Amino acid sequence: MVHLKAGDHVVSVRKPYSWTNKLFTVFLPRFGIETTLVDGHEAQNYEKALRPSTKLLYLESPNSWTFEQQDIAAVVAIAQKHELVTVMDNSWAGPLYQNPLEMGVDLVAHSATKYMAGHSDTIAGVVCGRQAMIRKLFASEYMTLGGVISPFNAWLLLRGLRTLPVRMDYISRSTTKIIDFLEHHPKVERVYHPFARGYAQPELTQKQLRQGTGLFSIVVKAPDIPAVERFCDALQRFLLAVSWGAYESLIFPACTLYASEIYQSPDLPWNMVRVSIGLEDPDLLIADLEQALCQLP
Ligand SMILES: *Cc1c(COP(=O)(O)O)cnc(C)c1O
Repeated sequence: MVHLKAGDHVVSVRKPYSWTNKLFTVFLPRFGIETTLVDGHEAQNYEKALRPSTKLLYLESPNSWTFEQQDIAAVVAIAQKHELVTVMDNSWAGPLYQNPLEMGVDLVAHSATKYMAGHSDTIAGVVCGRQAMIRKLFASEYMTLGGVISPFNAWLLLRGLRTLPVRMDYISRSTTKIIDFLEHHPKVERVYHPFARGYAQPELTQKQLRQGTGLFSIVVKAPDIPAVERFCDALQRFLLAVSWGAYESLIFPACTLYASEIYQSPDLPWNMVRVSIGLEDPDLLIADLEQALCQLP
C-alpha cells in the first residue's frame, strides 16, 4: 500500500497464499488498484502483463499448495528495466534456505508464524529490505495499518529463532525421506515439492534454493471425497489443521476448502492433501502414512 495508489496496477504470480490472493482480487480493487495474476513459470509473463500504470511486481516462490517457482533474478531484471518495485513472500524457504534480497528483490516478507516461531503459539510477520525501503514503510502506512506484535509474542518468537537452524535441518532431512516414500507409493499420484523427483522446475530449485522445507502436497488415488476424508481421519500422527512449519505434523486436505465460506473457489484438485512435516521421528510418520494410504480402496 506504501507503493500503490488508485489507478495503479500490480502483476503477481497466480495462486499466491489465499489471503494475498484476497488482497489482490477483492480488497485492493475497492481502492482502484488492479492486479493481473500470471503464470510465473516464465518470467516473460510478468513483462507481457505490464501496463503503463504498473508499479509493483509480486512474487511468492515457491507458491502455496503447488510450489511453483519464479526465476527471481529474471523477474527482478524486468522490474529494474521498468523501474518497478518487487515484493516477495519467502515464507516457504525462510531466511536460511533462500535469500531474495541478494537476488535484488526490494521487499521480502516472511510469515514468522511458521518456522521462525516454530511452535504454533505465535502470530508474527517480518518484512526485510534495504534501510531506505524500510524507513519509507515505517514513516508512512505502517503506523496506521501495520501489525504490532505484543511483547509476549515477541519473546516467543525470539525463543523460536534460537533453534531455527536445527529445526529446519531436521525437518528438511525427514521430509526428503518421507517424500521418497510417498513418490514410490502406489496410492500417491503425485508429490508437489521443489526437491521431489517429479518436480517441474528442477533448474530453479538448483539455482535458488539451498535446501527444502517440510511443506508439500500430495495427490492421492481416491475414488471420491469421502475416501480422502477417511485417509485423513486414519492418520494418527498428523493433526488436521491450517498453518504449517511448527513442531507437530499437520495435514490440510484441499477438499475442506470447497465447503468453506471464507476461502474462494480453490483452483486445486479435490484429492490434493497438503502436508507439513514436524519434529517427530520420520519413520513413525512414514508408518502412519503407510497404514492410512492402505485404507484407500
Ligand atoms: C501462512 C502464510 C502467510 C500468512 O502468515 P500469518 O503469519 O499466518 O499471517 C503468508 N504467506 C504464506 C505463504 C503463508 O503460508
